[in-house]
Amino acid sequence: MATDDPPDSPPDPHAPGIQPEGPQQQRYVLIGCTEEMVEEAREEMINRLEIEPRLSRRLSRLRGVTAARAAKLARLGLQQVRDVLIHFPREYKDFSGAHRLDSLVAGEHASVTGTVLDVGSRTTSGGRQMLVVTLACDGGRLRGVWFNMPFMARRFRPASRVVFAGAPRLAAGGWEMAHPEVRQLEGDEQSDTEWLPVYPLTAGVKQSDVRIAAAAAIDSVGDHLREAFLPEELEARRLLPIAEAFREIHRPTSRERLEAARRRFIYQELYMLQLALRVHRRQLETFVRAPVIELPSHLRSRIEGLFRFSFTAAQRRVVDEILSDLARPTPMQRLLQGDVGSGKTAVAASAMLAAVLTGHQAVLMAPTELLARQHFTTLAELIRRRRLVAADGEPLKPRVELLIGGQGRGRRRRSAQRIETGVSQLIIGTQALLTADLKFANLGLVVIDEQHRFGVVQRSLLQGSLLQPHTLVMTATPIPRTVAHSLYGDLDLSTIDEVPPGRQPVATYRVGPAELDRWWSFFRRKLGEGRRGYVVVPAVEESARGLASVASVLEELANGPLEAFRLGLVHGRMAPETKQGVMESFRAGRLDVLVATSVVEVGIDVPEATLMTIMDADRFGLAQLHQLRGRVARGATRGICGAITESTEAEHPRIDAFVGSTDGFQLAEIDLVLRGPGELLGTRQSGAPPLTVADIVRDGSLAAEAREHAIAVLAENPFLEGKPFARLRKLIGRRWGERLNLGAIG
Ligand code: ADP
Ligand code: MG
Repeated sequence: MATDDPPDSPPDPHAPGIQPEGPQQQRYVLIGCTEEMVEEAREEMINRLEIEPRLSRRLSRLRGVTAARAAKLARLGLQQVRDVLIHFPREYKDFSGAHRLDSLVAGEHASVTGTVLDVGSRTTSGGRQMLVVTLACDGGRLRGVWFNMPFMARRFRPASRVVFAGAPRLAAGGWEMAHPEVRQLEGDEQSDTEWLPVYPLTAGVKQSDVRIAAAAAIDSVGDHLREAFLPEELEARRLLPIAEAFREIHRPTSRERLEAARRRFIYQELYMLQLALRVHRRQLETFVRAPVIELPSHLRSRIEGLFRFSFTAAQRRVVDEILSDLARPTPMQRLLQGDVGSGKTAVAASAMLAAVLTGHQAVLMAPTELLARQHFTTLAELIRRRRLVAADGEPLKPRVELLIGGQGRGRRRRSAQRIETGVSQLIIGTQALLTADLKFANLGLVVIDEQHRFGVVQRSLLQGSLLQPHTLVMTATPIPRTVAHSLYGDLDLSTIDEVPPGRQPVATYRVGPAELDRWWSFFRRKLGEGRRGYVVVPAVEESARGLASVASVLEELANGPLEAFRLGLVHGRMAPETKQGVMESFRAGRLDVLVATSVVEVGIDVPEATLMTIMDADRFGLAQLHQLRGRVARGATRGICGAITESTEAEHPRIDAFVGSTDGFQLAEIDLVLRGPGELLGTRQSGAPPLTVADIVRDGSLAAEAREHAIAVLAENPFLEGKPFARLRKLIGRRWGERLNLGAIG
């Protein structure tokens, strides 16, 4: 729920469902169009005049929000009424007053009902003014104390019934709460809530500041909010109407009603995401064309023949899936997932060659420079190995271009020129590709290797064009299929579920403080046998502190357990040439051990390296650990990996899972469970759409329902046209329009 309307854009005659923006255009649209459009435009107008101003009103205009309070709220990013409405509580505390004194536990939140017995104040020895309100409760007394807040006294009428909520402590005179939340039980409708919202805050802002603003916001706009669902949908899906949902979210009247409100917002979010993804896809399919890349079948095996190995069955199947997408005139949007070392690069390279042999250009974008160089080398070797013949029978010598940061301007310009004139067909690079302002002669395919966002590249490489290249995104972090569907709609997903033959699972050990010496002597022995290895240090690549820590590990090792060996250092802050030099030495065997930050995580391919020590392994996520281990799973010799942890606990769920399985898909499922709601494995790497209230793991069944709902609605109305969908279109446009480039919707 973004707070700004998408920027006005001129009507695009090709786009469906375009909505009039602003009064000027509305008047224009009113001339000679259908009755429904007139009605819709009128409603938009009313909406703008009556609802929007209420929602975009400054908070300071609300009752109870003073200028000082508004200034504090602004620090939370809350400026307009709509901001505070969608600033949802982080949690709720029991405010029912149902706790009994004899069940209280010191320090644990509780709420207790009682009758005001006494209101008194005194000055403490430290000179502070202390207000003491004593309640007579079932089974004893409870004191509420406030320091330097004499005005609180006015809130308590003797003999009135109130609830105190807070963390109790046992003082000399019995149970006591310092600065409890107070709920008056009679006469004040405002405090008729059993669950106290707890909002995300920032320094200097109090819960009460947000609570007061939220309550006033709801009073001000509640009845004017427009519903995104049709009445029959609310009924069929058992969804709370919008005004009620907002009320219950901010001032719950019961646990059940609060749950119903949350359910509504979660459902709405998942439903809108499904609609947005599907409309986006439909728009692409209907209005955007992609170059048809049709590879003659004899070239299919020719491409595979370029590699030193034969493809696994899974690689072949996936290449087929990709080739059949490429042969269609609509842009492919395919996610290629496969465990570390499953051979995704070979698949991507095949697709790129298919593009090149049919006269197109192909781009590969890697997450790091190191990896871009490695891909560059791989591809360059590949095409040099045999003579290539294009689809038209002509001999072909494709030229590979490397584009990374820090290249001189002249070199850049010459590269750009070769790309624009079609002299270079294979283009490898980092994000530098995006800022290079390239023009392509005939771009057919874009491959994005890990960590990059779906869609972004396409848009940036060929902005605004109705001719788009095919896109393949590779990720080593598997996403369970159900989750993938909820997050991406029915995106095309290819899975390499098999590793090349001859691979042996890496022997993985958990190394606690007591085993550390034994581990290093084992590591030394293996190095002594001629193996090469990594020592990985969890350092934030770019921070100076991280740098210090990786350097100090190197020093410790060089003067301690590994003094007999040749050590090298790689980290993200090094000059590229230095880094390149160290990597080369390691590859060539002039170094025995590479001490590295997690830069080695992403795809470095040195098959001779079969040893790994991961320092402070608990600082890495499960997916990352598995990625790291993948570096030593490539050679013919069985890899060995030690996960060093400070922890002496008998069980360490993450490390134990890591030690217990080398199957990336299984680890992904475990990670899903371990991380619980809120954080989804792999979503960051693959650029999943960010959700605010929904959680794809927790809300799986709701997501499935939303998905079916969306499919049913779009089957009738592929672009959500018409008045009943006006509100929904607007919300979707705000939330996802820019992200998905849904120019036409909303
Ligand atoms: P990923 O990118 O999926 O982690 P890569 O494509 O980098 O994996 O492949 C890992 C290693 O396995 C590379 O050295 C590659 O040459 C090799 N490889 C890929 N496919 C096969 C195969 N079918 N048979 C044998 N080796 C393969
Ligand atoms: Mg890779």
